[in-house]
Amino acid sequence: MSRTPAECGEALGRLRAAAAALGRAVRFMEVCGTHTVSAFRCGLHSVMPENVTLLSGPGCPVCVTAQGEIDLLIDLALRGDVTLCTYGDMMRVTGSSGSLEKARGRGADVRVVYSPMDALALAAARPDRQVVFAAVGFETTAPGTAITVLEARRRGIGNFSVLASHKLVMPAMLALLESGRINVQGFLCPGHVSVITGSEVYRPIVERYGLPCVVAGFEPLQMALGLALLAEMVRDGRPALENVYRQAVSADGNRRAQQVLREVFEPADTTWRGLGTVPASALVLREEFAPFDARRRFHLLQRHVPEPPGCRCGEVIMGVCTPAQCRLFATVCNPTNPVGPCMVSSEGTCQAWFKYRRTTEAQAAQERGGIAAMETGGTRRAPGSARDGV
Ligand code: SF4
Repeated sequence: MSRTPAECGEALGRLRAAAAALGRAVRFMEVCGTHTVSAFRCGLHSVMPENVTLLSGPGCPVCVTAQGEIDLLIDLALRGDVTLCTYGDMMRVTGSSGSLEKARGRGADVRVVYSPMDALALAAARPDRQVVFAAVGFETTAPGTAITVLEARRRGIGNFSVLASHKLVMPAMLALLESGRINVQGFLCPGHVSVITGSEVYRPIVERYGLPCVVAGFEPLQMALGLALLAEMVRDGRPALENVYRQAVSADGNRRAQQVLREVFEPADTTWRGLGTVPASALVLREEFAPFDARRRFHLLQRHVPEPPGCRCGEVIMGVCTPAQCRLFATVCNPTNPVGPCMVSSEGTCQAWFKYRRTTEAQAAQERGGIAAMETGGTRRAPGSARDGV
């Protein structure tokens, strides 16, 4: 698909025409950290019709990781006999006793890796150490973890294990809808995840909830086209499942990756930040891979740990509040001193807002004042203002 500005303009024109015909406010939700950042970076919110809002849902894997799982990682890192390998975004997420970065400052052996295979290579090179890979992410990254576990078994690398925190997007979307806390008229479905799952996985949202779904990539044209299709389907009262990212996403997805996932993992209930316990939304290692399961190897038990005081990440993730509605946003919480994971992660909604939308304390305060005024009916919002996402 070409990406000319003219085509972007055409897609936006379709979106504007459909929005004008609707004559009422509509809200669509994306559930992908890359969509979140891409939309802010290209200024999509600022050129959308005033009556169309694009919310960010639970699409950032670091952000949805429960506080109790962060604590498990930190406890593990501080054991002394463990080398913990993690992706960089996890380093600064705060648990109840600091972060992995701070644990490293206290002597813990924490390494940032680019893939689970890096952690396996480290385990092979250091047979005297227990090497644990912190496996965070959705369907996109889980196949890499599964292949690494198979490789560890094939090579008999016994000092390697995985602390699996992989999560599945579709159960979270259904849990959001079942929660009754969100009011959306359609979903812009994630590109990366859909490469693995295929587009058909979202059909129940159309059939059970009567909401349109469009799988889209991350270019401005893809997102604008996805939103235009959503608005047109709402206008016409014909919800359907569409896929504008056919160059990467098929109806059935990547069957080889799905087969590897089924071989190594099985679904289990897990806790999501904001959503609470979501049935069958995690991938845990099957019994035959128990020797590579860090939870079993180190007898780890996950506790319920409250979010940092004042932090509203759970509500931001559910799309029921915007970052600017958090009193800590851009006051005590910023990318240099993040309080919650949504400000830590490069895909987090709070960090995206901070970088691309509201960068100073004064602006955040002004926005909160604007919201208060709007809530009492006093102010009409400007395009792309904090009312988005409410
Ligand atoms: Fe949490 Fe900071 Fe976002 Fe508030 S601004 S919800 S404290 S990450």
